Amino acid sequence: MTGSADRIFSFEFFPPATPEGVAKLRATREQLERLGPKFFSVTFGAGGSTRDRTLAAVLEIQGAGQRAAPHISCIGSTRESIRATLAAYREHGIGHLVALRGDLPSGTADVGEFRYANELVEFIRVATGDWFHVEVAAYPEYHPQSASPREDLASFKRKIDAGADSAITQYFFNADSYYHFVDEAVAAGIEAPIVPGIMPILSFSKLARFSDACGAEIPRWIRRKLESFGDDTASIRAFGLDVVTDLCDDLLAHGAPGLHFYTLNQASLTTIIWQRLGLS
Ligand code: FAD
Repeated sequence: MTGSADRIFSFEFFPPATPEGVAKLRATREQLERLGPKFFSVTFGAGGSTRDRTLAAVLEIQGAGQRAAPHISCIGSTRESIRATLAAYREHGIGHLVALRGDLPSGTADVGEFRYANELVEFIRVATGDWFHVEVAAYPEYHPQSASPREDLASFKRKIDAGADSAITQYFFNADSYYHFVDEAVAAGIEAPIVPGIMPILSFSKLARFSDACGAEIPRWIRRKLESFGDDTASIRAFGLDVVTDLCDDLLAHGAPGLHFYTLNQASLTTIIWQRLGLS
């Protein structure tokens, strides 16, 4: 079991596309900073589509004295473009990355020079040695494109064997899937921390859309309750806070090494969950 002082708490943002979005993210970050996370991560569009915006968001976080971890995805990219992105982060003193394959928009033909995230991790290690702490993705309910749970675990292990230091999971609402996955990973010889990804519930329609796309299950009882609230956002929020706080509580009680919140660039739900967990 991980002691509370050693736990890894982190918050994920996406890079804003407008000046209003930049200002809103600044206010969100200022609020979440007070909770004392280990780092803030910023997502990266497949094929490098958000490269400059991700870098700008990361530099702002770092400029505020916080640890920033840009995501980097390899699908649709060349070795040279990844090398340039790594060099830019290194030049700015960024020492933490979340390394992913990414998903190309459907119909995009050019997959680029990397097929899977383990190849990216290997490239990062060859190009930059131990400069970066490298996180990778893990899927307690298994990645939707994986041939089988066993193959998916093997893919995860390849990323760790290629040099990843730790993992953040896809979000889930069923804690047993996480416990089972961690047990299987440990049995496969994986010692790296596997931090659960936590999705606060903001809206049912958005959550259902995301979940269908990424293969995360919304348990039937949660789906039915959320559906039954219709447009009653206050009830969705209250129920979602109860469900997600209970999930986090259970995960921490069972020794999860930390929590990674998918904040969707909003501070309020994450802050309330945090306070209810007594983490301040
Ligand atoms: P991989 O580990 O490469 O796995 C992809 C699929 O290929 C899996 O099904 C795996 O089982 C299979 N596979 C792997 N290796 C092999 C092999 N050798 N042979 C056959 N099959 C194989 N996406 C973004 O675009 N930008 C982001 O910033 C971003 N951030 C994320 C953060 C987290 C914490 C998570 C969980 C996901 C994030 N994603 C992001 C989504 C992610 O890019 C997708 O889930 C993508 O489909 C898989 O990425 P991966 O790194 O897990 O890929």
